[in-house]
Amino acid sequence: MQTSVTPTHCPYCALQCGMNLTPVPDGDGGSVVEVTERADFPVNRGALCGKGRTAPALLSSRVRLTSPLIRRDGELRPAGWDEALDRIAEGLSRTRTEHGPDACGVFGGGGLTNEKAYTLGKFARVALGTSQIDYNGRFCMSSAAAGGIKAFGLDRGLPFPLEDIPRTGCVVLVGSNLAETMPPALRYLTELKENGGTLIVIDPRRTRTAEQADLHLAPRPGTDLALALGLLHLVVAEGRTDEAYIQERTSGWEEARAAAMAHWPEYVERITGVSVPQLRETVRMFCEPESAMVLTARGPEQQSKGTDTVGAWINLCLATGRAGRPFSGYGCLTGQGNGQGGREHGQKADQLPGYRKLDDPAARRHVAEVWGVDPDSLPGPGRSAYELLDAMGTDIRSLLVMASNPVVSAPRAAHVEERLRSLDFLAVADVVLSETAALADVVLPVTQWAEETGTTTNLEGRVLLRKQAITPPEGIRSDLYVMRELAARLGVEKGFPTDPEEVFEELRRASAGGAADYSGITYRRLAEENGVFWPCPAEEPGGPTGVAAGAGAPAGAGAGAGGVHPGTPRLFLDRFATPDGRARFVAVNHRPPAEEPDEEYPVLLTTGRVVSQYQSGAQTRRVDELNAAAPGPFVELHPRLAERLGVVEGEPLAVVSRRGRAVAPARITTAIRADTVFMPFHWPGEGRANTLTNPALDPVSRMPEFKACAVRVERVAGR
Ligand code: SF4
Repeated sequence: MQTSVTPTHCPYCALQCGMNLTPVPDGDGGSVVEVTERADFPVNRGALCGKGRTAPALLSSRVRLTSPLIRRDGELRPAGWDEALDRIAEGLSRTRTEHGPDACGVFGGGGLTNEKAYTLGKFARVALGTSQIDYNGRFCMSSAAAGGIKAFGLDRGLPFPLEDIPRTGCVVLVGSNLAETMPPALRYLTELKENGGTLIVIDPRRTRTAEQADLHLAPRPGTDLALALGLLHLVVAEGRTDEAYIQERTSGWEEARAAAMAHWPEYVERITGVSVPQLRETVRMFCEPESAMVLTARGPEQQSKGTDTVGAWINLCLATGRAGRPFSGYGCLTGQGNGQGGREHGQKADQLPGYRKLDDPAARRHVAEVWGVDPDSLPGPGRSAYELLDAMGTDIRSLLVMASNPVVSAPRAAHVEERLRSLDFLAVADVVLSETAALADVVLPVTQWAEETGTTTNLEGRVLLRKQAITPPEGIRSDLYVMRELAARLGVEKGFPTDPEEVFEELRRASAGGAADYSGITYRRLAEENGVFWPCPAEEPGGPTGVAAGAGAPAGAGAGAGGVHPGTPRLFLDRFATPDGRARFVAVNHRPPAEEPDEEYPVLLTTGRVVSQYQSGAQTRRVDELNAAAPGPFVELHPRLAERLGVVEGEPLAVVSRRGRAVAPARITTAIRADTVFMPFHWPGEGRANTLTNPALDPVSRMPEFKACAVRVERVAGR
């Protein structure tokens, strides 16, 4: 048993809080780990939320999987590793032979380490030869990624460290409930206010985060784009644009300006429900300080126009000279633990490691050389996550799922569940028997965060080392082992190491020269430096390769210890990562959600999260303390709507959309708009919120519209 204290990071959200783990005897001859404060990690300075504090519970939980399972006579039964791996290889091979490689799908997750995400992309394209790989991060922050690339030429959640937040003059938080999703980050907002800064929160609900705000705007769900356009209109009308900055550092202003000027404040008030005086006050608070930030999260991003919505908020930052200046700019608060790194290294349908584009010939050549394959053998871009799931049983005949639970987390979830059941073959690697794993032909039990070493990249673009602190139980293998063994069975004997550091060394080479350049980062540096911000090319700043020159060096950055590149905490200070170094305005116009309320479905549904559960709840629903704190779903509704329906607190309510019906108890509160109901999405079964959500996709990011769909709310007869 390892006995020393291991400094590491939480397995859950994108804050990746630092924590110390200490193995202690469990009384049964084994060991468990205890979490203690790790004050030296600057992001959370020792603070943890309940999820992080209780994360070790799942390591020793009775409900975790400890043996592979194979379906026999309709039941999942324990089996040996070789037999299980053989069955998966057979299932995938049969599909490949009978229907071609693109009939095999791979579905990854934003919780996978960089090493696993990288290997999964390579496994799909080299070992399986399929183009059909995507991951659940598509449902998370893909619109912000697409918007960032359009405007800045680069997507990194926050282009500045969290520590800059208290040093700005005003933060506009759009569709983020930090107080519930990542509570330790709330201190940045508290410090902002202590320093004299102001906080504006935009959310249809008066959340715990909104309660901290100096100004709370509660727009109708799905209208954040119009809101941003109305604000930009007022910025122009009130003469608050930064003309010198627009001239020097941007392109495309005239078109974006003309689009915004068509969105009169009174028109925007009618669309959003936010009054003109509130719009004016927002503009005043945002424009008067020397510095200001807009931070978006899932609210504006999980829409069928998420990319344009993010673009509109970036336009506001550009018109006022905020982006690429100290303590100012636009950022996205990424959600999943490795949401950032998980989208950089090749498990996304259209990307190769280093954030390279799969349809770029030079990128294909570079990565193919690292992988030792012919560039022409690499498949092209595949379907996005929902499109891949929707094609199951037709074009996609077999699926391998790693670290994802689409039965709960995908939109139109009942349809996705039915599509999963229609597959010829389904294999799932997970730590518990998730709702998706329960449908599989073969289930593989894999190691958890504290039982393995690997890197993640937090919402700041800070690459971190999560260290192994405890030995995994008998019968468990790592995802890297699974991929090596499957690749070998599919005829690819080499190129799939199981040692995470060896994978990372290859990832460094594959990412070199790409937008997300990790080539100057090593495990040794990560252990010594509390993380390193990408881009971090192998050379010092100003060296011959890498994107640091195009991305802007951090203020006052010099070469790091030993003459290596120090990493890049702050992007865009000198120039943006576009060919001409200018940020691009994007001309966008308001459009409504794909589904508007009507007579049959007169209410808007918006979905979200609660503090004690994480994503599909596959892990956190199996932790007693978290389950006790948040045991099930609910329908939040305004007293006026409750009165109209004759509903009392706690009464079961049916929420019905064009896609299905979900039932959960009523929670009546004035903290939500009267035209909107809210449901958290962490639970399966009759209260599954994603049964209702609309898979209408953003045309650029392919993000489904989780945040706004039309429903009716009914009392449940006979209860
Ligand atoms: Fe873990 Fe996120 Fe909670 Fe921090 S805020 S302890 S990273 S779940």
